[in-house]
Amino acid sequence: MSEPEFVQKADPEEVFAALSDDTRVAILRALWDAEGDILPFSALREAVGIRDSGQFNYHLGKLVGQFVRQTDDGYKLTRAGMQINGAIEAGAYTMEASLEPIELDSPCPTCDSDRTLHYEDDTVRVECASCTASARFGVPPNVLAGHDRDTIPSVAGRYMQSTFERITDGFCSFCDGAVDPTVGPMDEFIEAPEELPDDVPDEFLERVQNLPFVQYDCEQCGATPSGSLRAVFLSHPAVVSFHYDRGIDVRNLSIWDVAGFDPESETICQREPFRASATFTVDDDSLTLVVDDHLDVVEIERDRNA
Ligand SMILES: [Zn+2]
Ligand SMILES: [Zn+2]
Repeated sequence: MSEPEFVQKADPEEVFAALSDDTRVAILRALWDAEGDILPFSALREAVGIRDSGQFNYHLGKLVGQFVRQTDDGYKLTRAGMQINGAIEAGAYTMEASLEPIELDSPCPTCDSDRTLHYEDDTVRVECASCTASARFGVPPNVLAGHDRDTIPSVAGRYMQSTFERITDGFCSFCDGAVDPTVGPMDEFIEAPEELPDDVPDEFLERVQNLPFVQYDCEQCGATPSGSLRAVFLSHPAVVSFHYDRGIDVRNLSIWDVAGFDPESETICQREPFRASATFTVDDDSLTLVVDDHLDVVEIERDRNA
């Protein structure tokens, strides 16, 4: 039996040019509103409100293939067509939001100082008042719309966590392509800033340099989403059951308490061969996962002190 084969069916430029017209967007909206039903040509033309059937046919033709599927009975959306509609609904292309910075309840895991959440250009940014530890991730405005300032940090956190779970399952959050993880010392992935606040002690910097950093590389679009070891492992079966056995549902944990680069619970144990560990603690019990540079778990330690 031959291997499955996938070929590119259109140029990216052509694909987006196909959407640069009001009538074509209206056609996608009408098919979306049909909720999966196949619409015959005349019904679709009526729904869009175009009288000139030649002109309508021309625009419809530009969508067929990539965004619209033609069948014997009429037209329906392809998956890409549904995703375009989803993006329009999500407001990612049309909505803008602004938000005064919000102070987070939980302190910076790296240095214990206060942190603030900012939202600009469809991106949540969490910044520490004293150190350079920060987080950035894309959140479409509709995810946060309708929530008040008190609940926005937890909604943004849950969204980040769900994006991360997709990535740790192996799918790029931008293009659905395959992603591959690498683990290494933080300074191998991100450049240290030239100037640091005066009150950051040298000893702290050393600890930060020993923090493990996880980066995923997307073979398809080249995106490099990254995060901390504990953020990556929050949905690992051993971590889920460790918490569950102690009455904690990890889905209810605040990502702001767990994720983030924490020298107390994440460390590089050795360089050759590379080993890094992440520790989760509940009361006096702890669970430690040791990983190699490909994020494969090579050891799990359970410590019961109670
Ligand atoms: Zn900090
Ligand atoms: Zn990608």
